[in-house]
Amino acid sequence: MRVVQFGLGTMGLPMARTLFDAGIDLVATDVSAAAREAFGAAGGAAPPPTDVDVSTADVVLTMLPEGEHVAAVHASVREDVADGTVFLDCSTIDVETTAALHTAASERGLELVDAPVSGGPEGAAAGTLSFMVGGRDDAVERIRPLLDTLGSRVTTFGPTGMGQAAKACHNMIVGITGLAVFEGFALADALGLDASAFHALCSNAAAACWTLDNRCPVPDVVDGAPSSNGYEPGFAARLMAKDLRLAQAAAASVSLETSFGRQAAERFTEFAEAGNGDLDYSALYRTLLPGDDS
Ligand code: NAD
Repeated sequence: MRVVQFGLGTMGLPMARTLFDAGIDLVATDVSAAAREAFGAAGGAAPPPTDVDVSTADVVLTMLPEGEHVAAVHASVREDVADGTVFLDCSTIDVETTAALHTAASERGLELVDAPVSGGPEGAAAGTLSFMVGGRDDAVERIRPLLDTLGSRVTTFGPTGMGQAAKACHNMIVGITGLAVFEGFALADALGLDASAFHALCSNAAAACWTLDNRCPVPDVVDGAPSSNGYEPGFAARLMAKDLRLAQAAAASVSLETSFGRQAAERFTEFAEAGNGDLDYSALYRTLLPGDDS
């Protein structure tokens, strides 16, 4: 199977490395020269986007920030790929764009499988991502070896677009949970509790959750958490804000009011737009501490 991957960012780079290390025939590219060099340094082939030959690709994998980026890549390669090529989009984007790209792909005799992920760069590096998949069964089966290499859990939800629907619901939970954990630690700090002892308590009690153990917002409590590394993402606040807005759009499309999800969308959007978009989303914790005026 020959794979061409677009996007070598926080997620795309460890995904490409995992596929490359597993012996997949992979060419990967990014508009950023630094990102291409990082994959090249790992031994992979990483030409600039304009030099990539997609004509023999079985799969065009995208791991890009937003729908507009995925749409731009699809538009740039759609006429050059062979009939039957599968577009595998692992980015988190809006259901509407996915539907439009699916229509354009189908009219050209191509497949589109949407397979957004959970698990962060750690999961991409370890091959333990969780995939939420939408697409035709036979197209999904064709790209399954890639999903099995990159992930430890693959859940299919039906036709193209349903993967993004599942992801919107999932990340709404992660955003709301994040606010709960960060606010809990801010209160613990204000009350004079030791953060490490409080973390150990919560990890082994009813408050236990993924956010607590992977995105603990207090520096030097959890090794490897973004907070212990200057809040370097991890999962950038701008992407969390984007995902929560996608969840709000999905809720609006079915006339459902999700008030906690709306508050989370507002808080993370405000935080990202205040110049914090490239920090890990757990950095929002700092705005909850007494005396912070950001
Ligand atoms: P990122 O911003 O770190 O990386 C995106 C990369 O895409 C960048 O290197 C950028 O230069 C590149 N790019 C943009 N336009 C391009 C184009 N036209 N052609 C080639 N490359 C292009 O983002 P990320 O954290 O890797 O996230 C990617 C997607 O995965 C997003 O939709 C995000 O919501 C989702 N996601 C991220 C995480 C996480 O923990 N970071 C977890 C799950 C899902």
